[in-house]
Amino acid sequence: MSDIFLYNTLSREEEKFISIKNGEVGLYTCGPTVYNFAHLGNLRSYIFGNILKNVLLYNGYKVKHIINITDVGHLTGDGDMGEDKMEKGAMREGKSAWEIAEFFTKAFKDDLKKLNISEPTIWCKATDYIKEQIELVQILEKKGYTYLTSDGVYYDTSKFPDYNKLSHLKLEDLIEGARVEINEEKKNPTDFALWKFSPQNQKRQMEWDSPWGIGFPGWHIECSAMSLKLLGDQLDIHCGGIDHINVHHTNEIAQSEAATGHKFFNYWMHNAFMNVVGGKKMAKSEGNFLTLENALLKKNINPLAYRLVCLQVSYRKPMEYSDDIVISASQALNNLYRRVFELGKEVGQVNKEYKEKFILALNDDLNTPQAIAILQEVLKADLSASDKLATIIDFDKVLALDLQIGSQNSIVNEVPERIEELLQSREEARQNRDWNEADRLRKEIEEAGYIIEDSKDGVRVSKNNNL
Ligand code: AMP
Ligand code: ZN
Repeated sequence: MSDIFLYNTLSREEEKFISIKNGEVGLYTCGPTVYNFAHLGNLRSYIFGNILKNVLLYNGYKVKHIINITDVGHLTGDGDMGEDKMEKGAMREGKSAWEIAEFFTKAFKDDLKKLNISEPTIWCKATDYIKEQIELVQILEKKGYTYLTSDGVYYDTSKFPDYNKLSHLKLEDLIEGARVEINEEKKNPTDFALWKFSPQNQKRQMEWDSPWGIGFPGWHIECSAMSLKLLGDQLDIHCGGIDHINVHHTNEIAQSEAATGHKFFNYWMHNAFMNVVGGKKMAKSEGNFLTLENALLKKNINPLAYRLVCLQVSYRKPMEYSDDIVISASQALNNLYRRVFELGKEVGQVNKEYKEKFILALNDDLNTPQAIAILQEVLKADLSASDKLATIIDFDKVLALDLQIGSQNSIVNEVPERIEELLQSREEARQNRDWNEADRLRKEIEEAGYIIEDSKDGVRVSKNNNL
């Protein structure tokens, strides 16, 4: 097996990856704040995390993967000011903060599923780990890293000399960035809240008792508390979008390393933004965001076309979203499906030479554009159709573009996603021996103008050209 090289934001260099435990990796992905739907920018971040995980698995590692759900404490100012995004979202929807957390968590997980992003080993949500967050703040308090203000318990960043080790920014630049939100009581502009008090005369929906008073945890402390608790001695790779480098991840490092006295994660990896045309970041706060539902599903575009869009560019390069890139990726994907379909159904041997090239590309800091080029080479190569198919099925363990199922399901015949979903539900009903439901779904598919053919090789759906 060849070495894996990953670009580490800590060193700003590609480094050879060495896991703490032999053959196992602890991977932590900063998860969504569940006050709204995930947008295509957020989803780029999780596609990147998923490719990273698949590459580690493909290299033979066991991966313990954590994704957190931020359901409290992330303020609209992203620092320590403004409203809690969850409580604001709850007002907007006319529901409780707990209800919207549940609703948008489910919506997020549905999106991941549609993009073939596998579930993490553990999902964890901030509100389930309040005790651990309070304990971590207590350790910091005991070690002298905290101070009290009228609105909370703050971390004194001047006590942590390596505060800029991730951002590589001069302190003046970090201060400049932090100045956006002025809080007169902070000792240093970069200080941040570990615990915030509930406003006086107002009961928050989400609040807890603590040694300092009733309130809620600051945003950064949750990721430290949960990764230390759940990964403990396997703090290998922490990933997220580049917007997390200067504040969120910088603060996670400061508080975790101050509390434990040792290095937090060894590798920090960050994806570049999915911007909108003109170069502005796609962001919920900008109101310029597109969801998987709006941009693809409503238009009957296979969501995996978006996965392909992301794989066609290195995760470290900024991208600009347009309908055109999705449409051309969708055509490219259908083209791939057609070519895989034409290989037939016999699965031969994985070709070692191409597999080696494929791994080398991916182990070079997840070079997915190159990996896709190698997939194309396989299709054109002088190999038997069955060996090509075996090699492509193997590559798809990382790419997860449904290259085999997609082609067998005859998306080649331009069967819309909605029909594919009905077919999937019918398969599930049949497996559960719910024949009435299976029949009902068959009718629904037929009424929409498609025919189902059951054969010993599986189920195919195609357009009914006789209508
Ligand atoms: P949030 O729900 O805002 O905490 O973001 C979830 C993840 O998406 C984080 O890792 C962010 O860094 C990442 N992210 C946010 N906006 C974008 C964007 N436009 N492009 C790529 N990643 C993003
Ligand atoms: Zn985080």
